[in-house]
Amino acid sequence: MTGFHLVTDLDGTWLPAPGQAAHLRRLEAAVAAAPGAVLTFATGRTFASAQEAMDRWGLCPPHHLICDVGTGLFHRLPSGDWVEDVAWAGRVAGAWDAEAAGQVARGLPPGLEAQPGVRPLRRLALQVQAGCDLAEAEAALRDACRSHGLAADLLPSHGLYLDVLPPGVHKGSALAFLQASLGLPRPVVGCGDSANDLTLFEVSDHPVLMRDGLGDHEAPPWLLRRAHRTQVPGPGGIHRALIAFGLLEEDGHGH
Ligand SMILES: [Mg+2]
Repeated sequence: MTGFHLVTDLDGTWLPAPGQAAHLRRLEAAVAAAPGAVLTFATGRTFASAQEAMDRWGLCPPHHLICDVGTGLFHRLPSGDWVEDVAWAGRVAGAWDAEAAGQVARGLPPGLEAQPGVRPLRRLALQVQAGCDLAEAEAALRDACRSHGLAADLLPSHGLYLDVLPPGVHKGSALAFLQASLGLPRPVVGCGDSANDLTLFEVSDHPVLMRDGLGDHEAPPWLLRRAHRTQVPGPGGIHRALIAFGLLEEDGHGH
């Protein structure tokens, strides 16, 4: 085995629900012991929020961290410190009109607000207020971006959140950049559960859709054709998928 690149979303995917912590510990140990395996987290969380999650769940730290839905890319140094990828940061910043984004943020359409306590990186992290319709809010936001001259992609997720992203920047493009710039091993296994993982699935050799993630009526047909749907929820399902792909050995714990 020459290794593989495991790229995983955090919430609803890698982070254990109650009762799943032991499954995560076994999965972390198996990945750490697999020759040449590279681990990357790809999350909609900010860098600070991802660090907080890693501390709270005592996660084995990954080699790389894609945060802010792809607008941030960080590498972990041997010292344990994190350093931002300046080439990716420059590319994203070049596609992001921060001044126009600020104007949009100061005059949000009715029904939309900034996600409280979130300091996003080169994007706007918005949410729909209670009782308001996500599709209507998205249409109004699209108009607002147009009127301020902000070129952006809008990404709705979980029926609640709306991310405003630099055009072409998402988890998938950040992963493609990371993969190519560092020459990371293939296959790429991409694990996720929601709409902001679709681009991650697109650039993965083995897309892994969590059992309790996007339903069959929400996932696009190409994904349903290509994806491995986990049979058990949480990290245990990812572990079984990696065994099914021949990337990890059976661990003797009932997998
Ligand atoms: Mg998720």
